[in-house]
Amino acid sequence: MNSTAQSGALPRPEAGASVVSRARACVRAIAPYVPGRGSASADVVKLASNENPLGPGARALEVLTRPFEFGRYPDGGGVEARDAIARLHRLGEDQVTLGNGSNDVLDLVARCFVGPGDEVIYSQHAFAVYPLVTQAAGGVGVEVPASDYAHDLDAMLAHISPQTRVIMVANPNNPTGTWHGGATVHRFIEQVPTDVVVVLDEAYAGYPAADLVADGTQWLGEYPNLVVTRSFSKIHGLAALRVGYAVSSVEVADLLNRVRQPFNVNTLGLAAAAAALTDEAHVAASRQLNDAGLAQLQSAFTEMGLPFIDSVGNFLCFEPGRPGREVFTALMQRGVFVRPVDNYGLPGHLRVSIGTEAENQAFLAALEAVLANSAATG
Ligand SMILES: *Cc1c(COP(=O)(O)O)cnc(C)c1O
Repeated sequence: MNSTAQSGALPRPEAGASVVSRARACVRAIAPYVPGRGSASADVVKLASNENPLGPGARALEVLTRPFEFGRYPDGGGVEARDAIARLHRLGEDQVTLGNGSNDVLDLVARCFVGPGDEVIYSQHAFAVYPLVTQAAGGVGVEVPASDYAHDLDAMLAHISPQTRVIMVANPNNPTGTWHGGATVHRFIEQVPTDVVVVLDEAYAGYPAADLVADGTQWLGEYPNLVVTRSFSKIHGLAALRVGYAVSSVEVADLLNRVRQPFNVNTLGLAAAAAALTDEAHVAASRQLNDAGLAQLQSAFTEMGLPFIDSVGNFLCFEPGRPGREVFTALMQRGVFVRPVDNYGLPGHLRVSIGTEAENQAFLAALEAVLANSAATG
């Protein structure tokens, strides 16, 4: 035994000291993300997670039947997928950062730019992952009150301080479905200091009509502090494969790629994502089904006298007239899964994803039964 060990250089821990108490305080303070209720059963109607009811398109499915070498690591550079993304946006492949879903890219932004005490600005009712990645990085979330459920962009600008490192804006936002037009978003980005990162989260790109929500990637050339994120989980129907990306200036992409894990996107995801970008027919069919489903649910809610928030996403937030969580549970008992949004500060609302016509119908029938029941029992 050497002398250091004999002299007891390592103090004995207090009896009962917990390893959990040693976790970073910012991590212990995180409220865990609650995923949408899934189920293995084929009988349930899943309208809880804003997935594409059509699933992947033919191009992605076809590619997935290739003879992959599962014993090999994925292409760490994701060359094929990054090329396809760069071509789509007419950008360089050195402006693309791949993520294990776009959630992963949001985390990369926080890890690159946010340290203890740094501030990240986001809106009330915004996507739950923004506070999560902020807190995990030790940053301070600055939640700006929404205006009529939507991001109040002027108020967000007014909250910028010398500590602000990142502003996160979802267009459209989840869970509210609210959006801002191109001129408004452009004016907003223009007013953000050049050393503050603007994340424009366009996870629902492809669903809103182009004249309502502009493609934010068109402003990348003007603003080296702009990061636009996209996902393959929504209109491309590849949620299970976990692929998303950021497009940005070369300088920011270089930073994001330094903290990115080399094999963060798997082989199947890379191949399917590249194929999905070429499948315009699937994107068009998905958008068409969504437009029809939005109209179907909106007119049913109107007939039932249930207020809803106007949405350009593949989901709607509505007020069932009773606490959302109660109605959520009652719907679940009838095999219909929707999303309670009390954790988003919307206890009187529920979010329902747009499904196929038959799924929407099953949801509406269950909702009518649940609400009739509550009227009968008071
Ligand atoms: C669904 C969603 C995402 C996408 O998440 P992935 O990790 O790509 O599956 C990102 N932002 C918002 C606002 C979303 O609703």
